[in-house]
Amino acid sequence: MGARPPDVMIRSYKFRMYPTSKQDDLLRVMLDDHRFLYNAALQERRDAWTRSRVGIRFVDQDAQLKHIRAFDPDYARWSAAAETQTLRRLDKAFQAFFRRVKAGGKPPGYPRFKGAGYFDTVDHRNGLGATWDSHPTQSRVYFKGVGHVKVRQHRAVVARRITRIAVKREGRHWYVVLAAEQDVPAPLPKTGAAVGIDLAIGANGLAYTSLGERIGNPAYGKASRVRLAAAQQAWSRTKLGSSRRRKARERAAGVHRKIHNQRRDYLHKVARRLVAVYDVIVAERLTIAGMTRRAAPRPDGAGGYELNGGSAKTGLNRSILDAGWGMFLEMIRAKAESAGREFIQVEPAYSSQTCRKCGHTESANRNGKDFLCLSCGHRDDADINAAINILRAGLALRDTAQAAPREAFLS
Ligand SMILES: [Zn+2]
Repeated sequence: MGARPPDVMIRSYKFRMYPTSKQDDLLRVMLDDHRFLYNAALQERRDAWTRSRVGIRFVDQDAQLKHIRAFDPDYARWSAAAETQTLRRLDKAFQAFFRRVKAGGKPPGYPRFKGAGYFDTVDHRNGLGATWDSHPTQSRVYFKGVGHVKVRQHRAVVARRITRIAVKREGRHWYVVLAAEQDVPAPLPKTGAAVGIDLAIGANGLAYTSLGERIGNPAYGKASRVRLAAAQQAWSRTKLGSSRRRKARERAAGVHRKIHNQRRDYLHKVARRLVAVYDVIVAERLTIAGMTRRAAPRPDGAGGYELNGGSAKTGLNRSILDAGWGMFLEMIRAKAESAGREFIQVEPAYSSQTCRKCGHTESANRNGKDFLCLSCGHRDDADINAAINILRAGLALRDTAQAAPREAFLS
């Protein structure tokens, strides 16, 4: 591993994995074997020290690995580089221990043996018995000894290259954690402009800005939905297990993929434009998952609409999915981050019920698309009124954050 050039930064991505039940078993065995290796290496270091005051180093233990692997198929079945990582992990625990000893103070904890359930991560090197490999609709990650495991990739991985791939167990779930090398972004020149965004629903479009701009939602879904419905109907008329059924399913999946890609391209374009024009972008904080009550993702990781059951969504649900709010905000956040822009999210409480002129808050102020303040009589477009409130809330939040250190000096 060479030194990292100064224009590269590391970002990590964590995705849920959906192993088959056989792969699930293998992943457990992998964790266990690595845990035994860790404990055995710890034992060796302890024994050598207590018996003969010999300090065993990482390089000594790492050199033994290939002999162990030559004789023990239990270890040979996993990535050798990952086993080296596990030994390195023990070494790091020892280095931290020695540092604490040197520093004195409270008695330092000697590295401990890991019990079952206390060893949940195996770190792999990309390309050495582990490969991150994804395509537009389905992602998989390969681990030597386990095979290609399905991954639900909920955001795009931006990377010059992936360096590390870790297997992680959390409760009953499995995750893959990637370390991605990214270019350090070159900040865009300042424009001095700030904008608030009120997310809209269905026919209202995608969003409104505090400057009164309506951002449309081409809802590619609507046009393609006819084709999708036809594809689903064709599918439902086929016999279980028939090759016609498989083909009909593939056709429907193809339509899904196309809708998804078109929507994503459009959102990318809008997000790019917002980030180019504004230094500060403020939007609501969302809890999309709770809002749409989307069906659980299919184990094939395809995401998006479901062929079974998921199509029985209400109009509102479908519109929310169409607009892809979550995807949109995520894109703005990522692009703002790389361009050195500020993206602020505020709690949406009352932003649509509060009068931007006098501050009077009442749910009756808003009537669909119309805003009429029952206190001062101010009339407005309800979404634009909300977008302005959102912008103000964001700027206030920002001022408080920036003012805090100064106030600390005054006291
Ligand atoms: Zn008012």
